[in-house]
Amino acid sequence: GEVIRAERLGKTYAEGKLHTPVFDGLDFHVDAGETVAILGASGAGKSTLLHLLGGLDTPTSGEVYVAGQKMSALSDAARGQLRNRALGFVYQFHHLLPEFTALENAMLPVLLGGSGVPEASSRAKALLESVGLGHRLEHKPGELSGGERQRAAVARALVNRPACVLGDEPTGNLDEKTAATVFELMLELNRAQRTSLVLVTHDRRLARRLDRVLELHDGKLRQVARDEV
Ligand code: ADP
Ligand code: ADP
Repeated sequence: GEVIRAERLGKTYAEGKLHTPVFDGLDFHVDAGETVAILGASGAGKSTLLHLLGGLDTPTSGEVYVAGQKMSALSDAARGQLRNRALGFVYQFHHLLPEFTALENAMLPVLLGGSGVPEASSRAKALLESVGLGHRLEHKPGELSGGERQRAAVARALVNRPACVLGDEPTGNLDEKTAATVFELMLELNRAQRTSLVLVTHDRRLARRLDRVLELHDGKLRQVARDEV
């Protein structure tokens, strides 16, 4: 089945240039276990689309369904719960809480989901070990390298076994070698957990590795053929 579905999605920022829509009437879906790349020039609306799919912003028109639930029909609290349970986010900057250790950061989504500390701790530990951070559990973000911080962010995104991970240039701030390592790790964990992935990226070499490649251009989402990527 589909984990995310967007129908006739439109977004116009009230403060935007001449109130021009970023896009209008976009249709999008991602199937269970499917990996989808979204390419597009800077300013094309990739982040906007990802925010709408993740329920972090409200569309001007159209509907988003996450795990079959209509986002606009939910209260803010219910939308937050659904987001925490069904989606994982990884951004260009790690957004880990600086005062908390890697372990505590990775435990938070589990605690927010209503589980107790023992459950949160054991799941967070297992995931941090699987991203190669078993020896960094008690380190705070400031004591980790850039690659380690992104790997901790990946662990946090996956700890609730979400249906889909939404990645906005998750390796965009890393050097090429570290970026490749983090990307491979994300693909490997996604496959192992059968988690879907929607990845916004500038990097066509990364995009080529995913099941489907789309390009956002002039407010339209078009499928890019494999040999064109
Ligand atoms: P991309 O991620 O492809 O670089 P964005 O989604 O960030 O594109 O931006 C798409 C367009 O919307 C750009 O023209 C940008 O300036 C505008 N935009 C993005 N966020 C806002 C905002 N909060 N308020 C007004 N305009 C915005
Ligand atoms: P990675 O390939 O994961 O980015 P590095 O080779 O950059 O790792 O770093 C190796 C070690 O050096 C890390 O485990 C970390 O302890 C330390 N380190 C690297 N960069 C930083 C930093 N900016 N702040 C604190 N410690 C760092």
